[in-house]
Amino acid sequence: MKVKINGNYEERLNIAIQRLLRAFRRDAELVNDEADIEIKMMIEEINKRMSVKVSTKDENLSDEEIVHDDSDRKYLILRALYRLLTIIFKKELAYGVLTGIRPTKLVYMYKGKLTDEEIKQLLMNKYAVSIEKANLLIEVVNNQTRKYGDITRFKDEVSIYINIPFCPSRCVYCSFTSYPLNYQKVSQEAYLEVLLEEIKSVGMFLRNHNIPITTIYVGGGTPTALTNENFERFLIGIEEYLLYNPVREYTIECGRPDTINEYKLRLIKEHQVSRISVNPQTFNDETLSKMNRTHTTSEIINTYQLARDIGLDNINMDLIIGLPEEKLDTYIYSLNKILALEPDNITVHYLAEKRSSDLYQQDIDFEKHDYHIFFNYAYHILKNNGYIPYYLYRQKHITGNLENIGYCKVGKECLYNILMIEEAQTILGLGCNASTKFSDYHLILNPKDLISYMHSYKSYLEKKLQYFEEMRNQYDGSLFSEHEYE
Ligand code: SF4
Repeated sequence: MKVKINGNYEERLNIAIQRLLRAFRRDAELVNDEADIEIKMMIEEINKRMSVKVSTKDENLSDEEIVHDDSDRKYLILRALYRLLTIIFKKELAYGVLTGIRPTKLVYMYKGKLTDEEIKQLLMNKYAVSIEKANLLIEVVNNQTRKYGDITRFKDEVSIYINIPFCPSRCVYCSFTSYPLNYQKVSQEAYLEVLLEEIKSVGMFLRNHNIPITTIYVGGGTPTALTNENFERFLIGIEEYLLYNPVREYTIECGRPDTINEYKLRLIKEHQVSRISVNPQTFNDETLSKMNRTHTTSEIINTYQLARDIGLDNINMDLIIGLPEEKLDTYIYSLNKILALEPDNITVHYLAEKRSSDLYQQDIDFEKHDYHIFFNYAYHILKNNGYIPYYLYRQKHITGNLENIGYCKVGKECLYNILMIEEAQTILGLGCNASTKFSDYHLILNPKDLISYMHSYKSYLEKKLQYFEEMRNQYDGSLFSEHEYE
């Protein structure tokens, strides 16, 4: 659907307007020529009083207020447009005009300056966020600060993300880099050789510069897809190069039960890993098979039980809402099965439409009403069972315009997830397709392609360490730069 807006708004708002249109309709596109919907916009500002009039041939709305800065101006325009779009598309958005912004970061921006009630009013009035989501955002941030206090205190430390890009099969919704276990062009052994080199160099750099490591997170792919021998070698390497001092948290994703065995779980226990993730995604065997996940629901339960028996006391389980052919009763069934196992963390994801996934080509209804019903069900049943929401993020094209939420038992809040989502410190990414995000938002992405990574990892490593040095010098030894969240 093409939308044209004629008016005297600044061109720099086009990105935000385009995002807002897409939040209403996935196929909406802002154009300059012939369009399905034409909107007129008239903006006036006299002595800080700004008015915005928006209209179509059938509707006419206006809004005005005293503006103090560009942020007030921007959101007055977006709100006026948003109100018109709610009439055109006959729906409201729970996050109002908030697109492309991490919503909990907004709460952090105002925390300390305003009370929770004032922040709530601001979220609702300035950003048109629903009362339900405004309360949720504040609750999430309060749960983070209750556990960790002021998270900017980690600003001069770093966390490490390590990627293992192998999986036993490719799930149809997957948008990550994932190579088969028997990938001929690069063996697990060859990859580990290079990866451990990268880990060693970064470990030495941090040690020499006296920079503490806060958390380590090993994801993928599926880290436990490594053979027993390779997995052991990997864990020993991490211990040698990164665990020279204790870290606050060390997570390994063991996402697929078809890659886990007792030997690997015992290695995990022996090598200082403090948290793992075993991910059912659904408790429907038929869906698992259709999604090309080569394991069953009973394998999930057995693996989870084995991990508990071995003494692993911090386990996350992921659930995906919106998988093809699943409905409200399937989501509820899956969540209740997970609850019965009593994991320490439960992360509820909503399916996001990703170009690089095999699902992208399929005709999927990403706007089903039952997602909102499920959100309420999940929130209340999880809270009634002692889980609290502690981190939250939204993705582009997320199902039902909702959010992914990490819930946990009190005291089991994953620090890495919080630091990463709130962009509260530098995260160094190691391995194929790992991204490094410095605390000034500068990004360095390791190659997505495994062969390219093998050939060029050294130059990316140099770039990362060099930027690190520059940033430390620029910010007088600190790794954190103050930045405007909006
Ligand atoms: S297990 Fe995860 S990384 Fe591997 S194919 Fe499935 S979704 Fe992708």
